Amino acid sequence: GDTPQAVLDAYAAGELQAFDPAHMQRIPTAGGPGSWVVLDAGAGPDEERMLVIYPAPLGSVDLYLDGQPQRRALDLPGSLPAAHGRLAWALPAGAGPWLLHFAPTTTLSAPVGFQITPVAAFAHADARWLALTSASLAVMLAMVLMGLCFALMLRDDTYLWYALYVGSYALIQATQTGYLSNPLGWHLALGESVLGPALVVSSVTFAIAFMLRFCQLKRYVPLLRLPLLALAGGLAALMLLRLSRVPVLVEIGQTLLNPSLILGAVLLLTGAVACAWRGSRAAWFFLAGWTPLLVLTALASAQTDGALPALPWLNDATILAGAGEALLLSLGLADRTLFLRRDRDHVQALAAHDPLTGVLNRRAFSERAAARLNSGVPRPIALLFLDLDRFKLLNDSFGHHAGDRALTSVAKVLADELRPDDLLGRWGGEEFVVLLDGSPTEQARQVATRLCRRVYRLEIPVTDNGILLSISVGAAMLVEGDDVESLVSRADKAMYEAKSAGRNRVQMQSSPRRGAHLHVVAARQGWGTGRD
Ligand code: GH3
Ligand code: MG
Ligand code: MG
Repeated sequence: GDTPQAVLDAYAAGELQAFDPAHMQRIPTAGGPGSWVVLDAGAGPDEERMLVIYPAPLGSVDLYLDGQPQRRALDLPGSLPAAHGRLAWALPAGAGPWLLHFAPTTTLSAPVGFQITPVAAFAHADARWLALTSASLAVMLAMVLMGLCFALMLRDDTYLWYALYVGSYALIQATQTGYLSNPLGWHLALGESVLGPALVVSSVTFAIAFMLRFCQLKRYVPLLRLPLLALAGGLAALMLLRLSRVPVLVEIGQTLLNPSLILGAVLLLTGAVACAWRGSRAAWFFLAGWTPLLVLTALASAQTDGALPALPWLNDATILAGAGEALLLSLGLADRTLFLRRDRDHVQALAAHDPLTGVLNRRAFSERAAARLNSGVPRPIALLFLDLDRFKLLNDSFGHHAGDRALTSVAKVLADELRPDDLLGRWGGEEFVVLLDGSPTEQARQVATRLCRRVYRLEIPVTDNGILLSISVGAAMLVEGDDVESLVSRADKAMYEAKSAGRNRVQMQSSPRRGAHLHVVAARQGWGTGRD
């Protein structure tokens, strides 16, 4: 039943509650008839000025000029002069007081700030805001698209939660600042809609889901996992209550939502700090990206009670912090991938190498040797089978540790003697295998002899009475139809012949039938054909 004139009369009679317009104010708009605000700026300069509300409320506001209401709302496209992220009216020259009416809304009242500025200053601030917000939203959108692509390609839902989290945060910014209506021109009826709270709830829920995976909460702080999951579920349930249209349920949802969101923030922070403390690298990225947002939100809510009036940039900083967070988290995701790759390489190396000597293990040697045999390029390939002589004696005389040291020294000498292209593996206990790629018979014999000498020159005693460690080597050349197994088995046989002939020597494979076959193949392929 209020009339504009009655409100102005009440103002003149000093009946209205006063506030300092230099501080931000929370104007009550939930339920009831809304709120009247009288701004008295005194006599201004004789030029046209703008009345600006920034940050702006989500509902609509009327400015009464000559008794006529002029409506502005963040989601009301097309009001002139065009304003973005703020409500603005052109004031006629002259003194106030100016009468505003804040329409009732179903959303929580956000803090607002009032300014009366020259038109040029308004246009400048408005353009700056538009550039900053567009850039920040574009960064967030790009990160969302990247997250979705990576989630699809890598089948890693951490990226999906990241995309959903950043996406809902960007949507919160785009709706709460009215960006979707001005400049984008999509009308959303912000004052009445539940979109805002729904987005806030989704963003916290997605943040929880993302944080659980990204910071590896299950591994670092398993105790917190259940409470966080329960909270995410609870938030979704509260949101459903809020949407139910049953007044009691809506009331319950509305009452519990904010405390739950605060609890969510506290739990997320606790979880991230605990993960970081226990060694999760990702948690540091999460904290670095997320804490600024949290601090800004806390500062902004302090501002609503009149604190920190000298920080008018807080609202803009919140938008920038969203883009900053999206970028920092994407760096964190890249860092995570880098570490996963390192882990994978490490595991691959462990799986392929013998832990004692560091040379290829039997499986990896077989795989790589098979790849060489099947490479399709015709060339001579020799396989050497090396067995340490009287190694059991060494173990018995000096113990297993000495035996292990001897194995390591032999492996190192063999690796040093071979070319980078050759393959060296440990076939079994004190047996090594070497694949000489591109070596014809005579060259293979020379290499094998050199290996024999080098091991003997290590002068590792086998017993107390002066016997030195040596190796016996059997060598086989690749023939048509060979696979790794047949090649190794022929070289092994030759090695036993070397043992029988007195050890510490090389024996080339000598099977007359095989030799003839080798001769034929070798002649056809143009290899050297030494008599073995
Ligand atoms: P030969 O000259 O006939 O080859 O005699 P040998 O003693 O070398 O042969 P034998 O097969 O009788 O013994 C091999 C020994 O190698 C037995 C085993 O204890 C030892 N051995 C196998 N693997 C390892 C290992 O990893 N470390 C140590 N210290 N000894 C090993
Ligand atoms: Mg042996
Ligand atoms: Mg042996």
